[in-house]
Amino acid sequence: MEVTSNELIRRYLEQTQSLYGKELFIHKVVNAQNGEDRTQLLAEYKQEISACLKCPLGKTRKSFVFGVGDPNARLMLVGEAPGAEEDRLGEPFVGRAGKLLDKILAAIKRSRTKDVFICNVLKCRPPNNRDPLPSEVELCEPYLIHQIQIIKPHLIVALGRIAGKTLLKQELMLKEMRGKLHDYQGIPLIVTYHPAALLRNQALKYPAWEDFKWVQSILEGKS
Ligand code: SF4
Repeated sequence: MEVTSNELIRRYLEQTQSLYGKELFIHKVVNAQNGEDRTQLLAEYKQEISACLKCPLGKTRKSFVFGVGDPNARLMLVGEAPGAEEDRLGEPFVGRAGKLLDKILAAIKRSRTKDVFICNVLKCRPPNNRDPLPSEVELCEPYLIHQIQIIKPHLIVALGRIAGKTLLKQELMLKEMRGKLHDYQGIPLIVTYHPAALLRNQALKYPAWEDFKWVQSILEGKS
């Protein structure tokens, strides 16, 4: 079933209101205008949600994986969920795939601490790295939406088919999502390969590089 933007906004407001109360929440987001505000808001938000047990994954996780990066990032990278290494270390995209992602970011003159924020739709690891369940996404996605509200990225890149279809709420193949500028909550979104797929299939590196050159040109205002 396709979830409308209005439905997502309703869930998001219900959840943030339960966390902050209506007036305080509006005050916080409206005032997230500069780097200092965003850094503080993001740190406060991490602290407030890091003990979440709203879905069963909260009981099986080793770490709550909030995300890492620059609170003023113009580029936000979103995967589907933490894997085993991420769960162990509490940081998204670590291990071999993460190192490859770091190299790609360096090639577009960025890093996970410079103009980039990296996170996942789900903040806790699904057992055996299975795909996120719709019920888990429904409960966890408001956290991502709030992160986006604070960071206000210019562009979101979904890494992999699962992240893409989860964010777009459509059952699509990666090739159907790739190469298009989508919209996520009013922010442009591109879908590209998960770095782990590039490790498995070297032939995907060239098209992935084309995608990241496109990302760079969008961020530099050339397309
Ligand atoms: S996956 Fe999300 S909703 Fe589920 S327990 Fe973790 S933080 Fe909470």
